[in-house]
Amino acid sequence: MQNRTKVSIATGKNRIEAVHRAFEYLGGIGKWVKPGFRVLLKPNIMSTGGTPMITHIDVLKGLYQLCKDAGAREVMVGENSVCGLEPRVQFDFIGYTDALKRLGVKVVFFDEEEWVYRARPENLCLKDMHLPKSLVEADIWITVPVAKTHVATVSTLGIKNSHGILADEDKARHHRLRPEFGSSLLDKFIDVLAVSKAHLSVMDMFDAMEGQGPGFGDTVEMKLILAGDDVTAVDAVTDYLMGFGNLEPPLPRKAQERGLGIADLKQIDFVGENPNDHRQKFIPAIGGDVPGSDPPGVEVLRGDMCRSGCGMPISYMIDLFKLVLGKDLKELAPITVLCGDNPPPPKDKRFIFVFGDCAIYSTWNYEYRRKPAFIGPWWRRRPAYIDVPGCVPLSLSWIRDFAKLIRGYGPILSLTSMVEFAETQKYTFAEGVPLEKNPRRWQFDPEFRKKYAKEIEASHQPEYIYKNESCKMSGKG
Ligand code: SF4
Repeated sequence: MQNRTKVSIATGKNRIEAVHRAFEYLGGIGKWVKPGFRVLLKPNIMSTGGTPMITHIDVLKGLYQLCKDAGAREVMVGENSVCGLEPRVQFDFIGYTDALKRLGVKVVFFDEEEWVYRARPENLCLKDMHLPKSLVEADIWITVPVAKTHVATVSTLGIKNSHGILADEDKARHHRLRPEFGSSLLDKFIDVLAVSKAHLSVMDMFDAMEGQGPGFGDTVEMKLILAGDDVTAVDAVTDYLMGFGNLEPPLPRKAQERGLGIADLKQIDFVGENPNDHRQKFIPAIGGDVPGSDPPGVEVLRGDMCRSGCGMPISYMIDLFKLVLGKDLKELAPITVLCGDNPPPPKDKRFIFVFGDCAIYSTWNYEYRRKPAFIGPWWRRRPAYIDVPGCVPLSLSWIRDFAKLIRGYGPILSLTSMVEFAETQKYTFAEGVPLEKNPRRWQFDPEFRKKYAKEIEASHQPEYIYKNESCKMSGKG
């Protein structure tokens, strides 16, 4: 095992200059990128939000130039965005597709290409997975994350960025914290690292994010780019720059424990800028499993819930409500959100959201479910409650469902709502998880199954479970 590693910290008048400088400190990118190589850059383009939610395009441009100068035959940029969001749509919307193509970069959308099956039985949770063909076949791949806080993992950096190399079906697996059932999102990230560790990590820390990352935080101007050939070490140094203690954030620490890089700052040589000249105290994100953060007008009834599971979408929902709806929420109130196993029964019957399989199944016999599924006059029917299925419910369909819950269905669908309706159908059950690949909780948890056997038996199983059979993956096996 290696004893020491090197991480460069660079600044500059812009990102491109800082990227170049970061590699000068390391002795040039030519140490890794050889003439004739095919290089794949994996940024974090989780959605259509701007910087610092996503990796800035100038970091990719800077890397493209360096790779070309080193003699690379081809430079690709590839991504699979947040579950249910097609990367092509995200790239087109923010203008990255055209800008990168004009530069000469090949843009690859992982969800549109073949997946290559990889098994690693000694992994802790995710013992097999599918990787994009372009990444497997590249001579070298470089993770290009942006530094942000995160509700489930403290920070989201290079190790976490690897989640975006998985198919949605694999992303949904073990996206929870139920160690008693062999599921830990944190261990899962290290499982992915064990199967495919980036050869280089280049951290976009020009503008970083604090607070409600990864989606709703605030910008912290750092003007830094970090680089190194140990993604664990680059993460550890970035965490330090964000004000976290040595070995405090879980992912680099776990990676080091499993022999996948160096996280202990005492074993890392810094080149370039002195980290202590730039270190700031980032405000951490508050997870959705923490009571007391609910916006006015919204009551979140929490059962036994996992932070890396339902805690994440719940915190997105709370942040989005706060950001977008503001005073409307008070007018619409009360909105009730049920989540986790056995949440308290809702007192008010208006606008009920049920997040995740635990909440759906454990409230199967609650009173609100015995009422008609639709309420209101025929010309403005609306659902009595909305189930947001999944374990974890990663699909963002609930944003559209929310509109249905509040506004109801119109008697005649206008052109716009037709589009919305069509999209809803597409997204509502878009997890695309074949059962054998992503067993739902009542399948993998015998206790849970026993506990709810009657309910499960008595009820028809929700239809969406069987609508998930279509799976885009090819090249399996
Ligand atoms: S459905 Fe239950 S087990 Fe699954 S992520 Fe949510 S709280 Fe965790």
